[in-house]
Amino acid sequence: MSQTDTSTQHDTRAPAPTPSDPVLEIRDLSVDYGFGGDPTHVLREVSLTLARGEVLGLAGESGCGKSTLAYAATRLLPPPGLITGGEVWLTGRDGRRADLLALSDAELRAARWRDIAIVFQGAMSSLNPVYRVERQLVDGILAHRPGIRRSEARERAAELLRLVGISADRLRSYPHQLSGGMRQRVMIAMALALEPQVLIMDEPTTALDVVMQRQILEQVMELRERLGFSVVLITHDVSLLVEVADRIAVMYAGEIVETAVARDVYTRPRHPYSAGLLGSFPPLHGPRRELTGIPGAPPDLSKRPPGCPFAPRCPHALDVCRTELPLLGPTAQGEPGRRVACHLHTPGLTDGALPELLAR
Ligand code: SF4
Repeated sequence: MSQTDTSTQHDTRAPAPTPSDPVLEIRDLSVDYGFGGDPTHVLREVSLTLARGEVLGLAGESGCGKSTLAYAATRLLPPPGLITGGEVWLTGRDGRRADLLALSDAELRAARWRDIAIVFQGAMSSLNPVYRVERQLVDGILAHRPGIRRSEARERAAELLRLVGISADRLRSYPHQLSGGMRQRVMIAMALALEPQVLIMDEPTTALDVVMQRQILEQVMELRERLGFSVVLITHDVSLLVEVADRIAVMYAGEIVETAVARDVYTRPRHPYSAGLLGSFPPLHGPRRELTGIPGAPPDLSKRPPGCPFAPRCPHALDVCRTELPLLGPTAQGEPGRRVACHLHTPGLTDGALPELLAR
């Protein structure tokens, strides 16, 4: 499925710049839901690069495709999700690169956890309620390190709990005997068991209060400094990302609509949807302001309109927006590291008229 299938492509943009030391490269990843002649295209040719040691924030409303992207990239997408195209290149600890989508099942099992690990949204539904924490950690370690003795796996499990700030005597606890924050820390400990290169965190603190949310994320960032892994942090809370991410990618209707350095997204969002998201959360610093939100609702992806999918909600929509799909590319202002999918910023299309258009 191409981005041009439902709309007219109006220009050809330069390929995305590649960081000098990429650890994860997602190229043109597409996912459909449903089988037969009329599937819904929920992810359309999404490309992202994660540099070694970087924290990349993935932001967007519920249903925009953030979790689908994470599950597709790790081949954990359940039916009826179907990967219809793309590549996911992961650089292992030994420097060798492999396309996760092309690995055999055995190779993939080995790469998961060892090279790439994921922390799911709900710890309570991810941990087995009838096994103690120790067994869940030890079984995982033994499965991936066949040569290791059980006593060594137990020691490693205790070390992992201490790593995330939980006393080792909690190994004997069942998940229901732990607080929500502790359960989430156990999930993070499990994900870090084999010291992966990449940690994907899918809304890891959504169910927690803001104090616990902050504590856990600060701890993950400290561990990242210490252990050197890279993070993809998925959340709808763009204010949170601004605090912890190096770069932010904003998703809407299954596509990346803006990617830039986190500070630049926060201070000067270019895509109207990014600006709307920022206006939906209280500011982190400075005077309080009224939250504006975004009018309307995301499009039904089974009836995707031609042109820009944000057009029905966009306060700046032009005529061209309703017929031509804007492609992700450099802005007319040529800002380094920023790519936007919006006609307002397409080189040559609205040059010179941009301030007036944005003032409308
Ligand atoms: Fe709004 Fe048009 Fe930009 Fe879409 S392309 S976000 S409708 S201005």
